[in-house]
Parts: sequence; C-alpha cells; structure tokens
Amino acid sequence: MLKKRGLLLVVSGPSGAGKGTVCKKVIENNDNIMLSVSATTRQPRTGEVEGISYYYKTKEQFEHMIENGQLLEYARVYDNYYGTPKQEIYDQLENGTDIILEIEMQGAMQVKKKFPQAVFIFILPPSLNELKNRIVGRGTETIDQIEKRMSSAFGEIKLIKDYDYFIFNDSIEKSADQVMSIVNAERSKVIRYKEEIISIFKKEI
Ligand code: ADP
Ligand code: 5GP
Repeated sequence: MLKKRGLLLVVSGPSGAGKGTVCKKVIENNDNIMLSVSATTRQPRTGEVEGISYYYKTKEQFEHMIENGQLLEYARVYDNYYGTPKQEIYDQLENGTDIILEIEMQGAMQVKKKFPQAVFIFILPPSLNELKNRIVGRGTETIDQIEKRMSSAFGEIKLIKDYDYFIFNDSIEKSADQVMSIVNAERSKVIRYKEEIISIFKKEI
C-alpha cells in the first residue's frame, strides 16, 4: 500500500475566531493529527502550559532561534515574536503524521513559499460583533489589547484570498468536522501520490 506522508495544515483567522478551540477539537478526535507547538516571547496566560501551549522564550532566545535557522516561519504580532520550530515538524510529516500550524497570516505566507503543498484553511467568525463577544468572553486580554485585535480583524479577513478553504465557525463541532472533510479530501488528491500509485500497479504487469 501507499506510504503515507503527513499533511501540513495551516490554520489562520482573526484572533477570537475560534482557531484554538476548533483545532483542539480536531486533535481530540484524531490520533494521527498533531498541533505544532510554537515559540513565543509573549507572557503565558492563566492556564497555559510551557511546551503544550507554547515554548515561552525571551527576546534574546527567540532571536537566537531565528539566527540558527531553527524556525520554519516567524512573525512579530502585537509586540511579540511568534514562530514555528521546524525540526519536529519535518520528522512528524515524514512519519505520516498530519500537522496543524495555528499561525497568523504573515507566517502562513512564509510557509506557502517553503511548502506549496501545504493546505491553507481560514477560520471566520459569524460576524465582527460576535468576534468581539468571543474575545471579551475569553477574558484573556486587556481592553487595550481587545481594541488592537478588533482594529486588525477586517484587514486580516481580507487576506483570505491567499487561502484554499474557509470555515464559518458558528459551531465548534461542525467546524471540526469541516476541517476533517478537508483533510480527507486532501489525502485523496492524486497529485500527492501519483507516482506511487502507478508504481503499485506496474509491479503486477
Ligand atoms: P482564537 O484561537 O482564534 O484566538 P479561541 O479558540 O481562543 O480563538 O476562541 C475565542 C473564544 O471564543 C473562546 O472563549 C472560545 O471558547 C469561543 N468560541 C470558539 N468557537 C466558538 C463557537 N463556535 N461558538 C461560540 N464560542 C466559540
Ligand atoms: P495568541 O497570543 O492569541 O496565542 O496568538 C496571537 C496570534 O499569533 C494568533 O493569530 C496566532 O495564530 C498567532 N501565532 C501563534 N503561533 C504562531 C507562530 O508560530 N507563528 C506565527 N506566525 N503566528 C503564530
């Protein structure tokens, strides 16, 4: 049979749209999909755990990772650095594990250049009003930070044109199912396996 290669899934969307919640659901329901853990210079929020939520770094440590080429992509967002450590991702993809990168759009476009075969999914809130309700309801940002996130939201949504798929996240369950429909369709794309498929049948000739 085919030796499966992992899919690299890039999930973006404005802060508060529900990316983290939907990705968590997808991972809970699927053993073969992993969420990449990013490095960041931002402070941990209540309940976040080192090595699970993020790898928390100082600015100097993060800049060292950039200089050493340890990051697949990185960006400065809301005064902090965020980036994807690359080694583990390459190993897991080679093992056949699908990986989700939950990252913002500047980083996503860096991934697109290096990994054009990645799958780009954009999570949308049902409305900007609901987006604000969700950020406020999450209770993890100050009023100032909420305003910053809200004033970036429309500009971010316009970047959807560079993505392959969109999901309106009005229900967590439905959005997670939609991610899995995308994953299943992408796994069956001929372009990913055409040489291997032909070689399976060639052996019998
Ligand atoms: P993001 O990762 O995009 O910043 P989160 O996953 O942290 O967003 O979600 C923001 C808030 O919205 C959280 O409090 C979360 O529980 C809530 N939320 C996420 N998806 C939904 C949904 N479909 N319906 C209602 N609330 C949601
Ligand atoms: P938060 O501070 O809410 O956890 O994340 C802020 C933003 O940074 C979100 O849009 C999130 O998707 C993005 N982000 C998280 N990790 C990374 C990463 O490794 N790289 C990039 N480019 N963005 C990231």
